Amino acid sequence: MPFRAPVTDFQFLFDHVVDFANVTATERFADADRETTEAILLEAGKMVEEVMAPLNRAGDLEGARLENGKVRTSPGFGDAYKQVADGGWISTSADPEYGGMGLPHSITTAVNEMMASGCLALQLNPLMTQGQIEALEHHASDEIKALYLPKLISGEWSGTMNLTEPAAGSDVGALQSKAVPNGDGSYAVTGQKIYITWGDNDFTENVCHLVLARLPDGVPGTKGISLFMVPKLIPDENGKPGVANTLGVVSLEHKLGLHGSPTAVMQFDGAQGWLVGGEHDGMKSMFTMMNNARLGVGGQGIGVAESAYQYALGYALERKQGRTPVEGGTGTILEHADVRRMLAGMKADIFAARAIEMACAVAIDMNTATGDKDWKARAAFLTPIAKSFGTEVGMDVAQQGVQVHGGMGFIEETGAAQFLRDVRVTAIYEGTNGIQAMDLVGRKLMDGGDAAYALLDEIEDCAEKVRESMSDLAEPLWQASETLREATEWMVAQTDMNERFAGSVPFLMGFARVLGGYFHLKASIAEGGEGARSKLAAFYIKRLLPEHSGLLEHAMQGAAGVYALSAEELGAA
Ligand SMILES: Cc1cc2nc3c(=O)[nH]c(=O)nc-3n(C[C@H](O)[C@H](O)[C@H](O)COP(=O)(O)OP(=O)(O)OC[C@H]3O[C@@H](n4cnc5c(N)ncnc54)[C@H](O)[C@@H]3O)c2cc1C
Repeated sequence: MPFRAPVTDFQFLFDHVVDFANVTATERFADADRETTEAILLEAGKMVEEVMAPLNRAGDLEGARLENGKVRTSPGFGDAYKQVADGGWISTSADPEYGGMGLPHSITTAVNEMMASGCLALQLNPLMTQGQIEALEHHASDEIKALYLPKLISGEWSGTMNLTEPAAGSDVGALQSKAVPNGDGSYAVTGQKIYITWGDNDFTENVCHLVLARLPDGVPGTKGISLFMVPKLIPDENGKPGVANTLGVVSLEHKLGLHGSPTAVMQFDGAQGWLVGGEHDGMKSMFTMMNNARLGVGGQGIGVAESAYQYALGYALERKQGRTPVEGGTGTILEHADVRRMLAGMKADIFAARAIEMACAVAIDMNTATGDKDWKARAAFLTPIAKSFGTEVGMDVAQQGVQVHGGMGFIEETGAAQFLRDVRVTAIYEGTNGIQAMDLVGRKLMDGGDAAYALLDEIEDCAEKVRESMSDLAEPLWQASETLREATEWMVAQTDMNERFAGSVPFLMGFARVLGGYFHLKASIAEGGEGARSKLAAFYIKRLLPEHSGLLEHAMQGAAGVYALSAEELGAA
């Protein structure tokens, strides 16, 4: 079943669920009116359907490989990348001064999600470049901006982010890479970075590495880290790539999935680099890149879930097995109650995760357009939820997609297994989902819970309004929101962070479940309580929302219980 881009779903969310009209009402984003937005989404969707989706399997079967120190990419990836770049899909939100379209991040988020549906391995390349563009826009000197931004925005050059080292994964502050001033304004960067996504390719003219390293006077930990632009080929003053820098790909990782995306071990040997942002300010600059990338990774999970769902539905519409209870139905497994349960659950969760993703993107746009601190706080609060829930839904939907296929799901030819293999890493990179949850209950509740309570107030206001007319949906949502309020109060009251951390993942998932219920209710209200979206909302609120209760109960158990079993009792020798 060929991939169909969910453009109408995005447009519905924009129009009725996440109040995208607030974004287009600002002066900054006034050009992104409904007509423009729809045209862009349709065009991007068409490109994904025709160019990216047909490549997905080839990228899996013939992954990227290293030949004599050079990366050779999967068949068709170079041509497809060119079409992505030529269509402007790398730079929909980039600064128009350097060639970008300057559109809201919400649109970029939707386009990125569709590209992830089409071919996750290839989509990672523009996603990395977008993050780099953003970091440079905010933190680089005018010279670096002038030299690099036009090339990155046009897609002639691509970008990478280099944080991870063998002894510095989640703990980025433990990194050992060094940078020494050359005396001419540049620096010599030395160190090894691992797992670097798209560390090299054979289709862009240059590859620009943003590298975290420590200056000689940098203190230990995250406070002593600086960020450097280290290009593969050093550009001359006109931007023409010239001398090869002293860096290279040592090896490519053999991975569970994402075979089309070269994941490189990179070696920098006194490579020439230029400071981006202030000395020792590297984490601040990198966070600009990472924040929106986190939302982007959440979108990757949802994008893969969308494709896995479409495959599963397509299979269920064809496969005949057993007597089906539905008179005059398709006569296929689609008519079995359990298969219906899986498909409806997958669809309901995709809607919930996508609505959270888009609500987060709208908050980012509103903060960009207005500088309002409440929008900033909302974007910051929703980012770890969007990343984690989006990727958890990605994994769950992909595994249910395999289940719907039965034995054929385990056979590679159907493609169902590839989704599961490819999406697995999204819960790991860009900050593991565990780290995201700790961020949510730690830094994101430092405001005493203000951003969380503002969301809960909004949910309860909405439920109150339809408490009588749509009581079967509004009442359970209102109750769930109250339970979540109690759990949030419990979290805020814990002064020992480990008490919070022990329940952070179930808290995040419980929060997401309730938010999902809210957005489903809004969808149903928009439909007047009748229609396919209302039926989906009822499915979610009656069958999936109740999970919040167990999750939040778990969230409030504190740390003692998780340490109750000693290392020996866990089985350590
Ligand atoms: C395919 C792929 C692509 C990647 N691309 C890039 C890239 O482009 N650039 C880049 O810099 N990196 C990249 N990474 C690295 C990725 O970001 C890291 O793998 C990730 O941050 C986790 O670090 P780690 O692997 O060292 O795991 P660890 O940090 O060792 O974590 C192991 C486990 O311990 C948990 N844990 C660790 N610390 C804590 C803590 N303080 N509290 C609670 N739990 C904790 C983690 O949640 C995890 O479950 C990529 C990784 C992969 C697999």
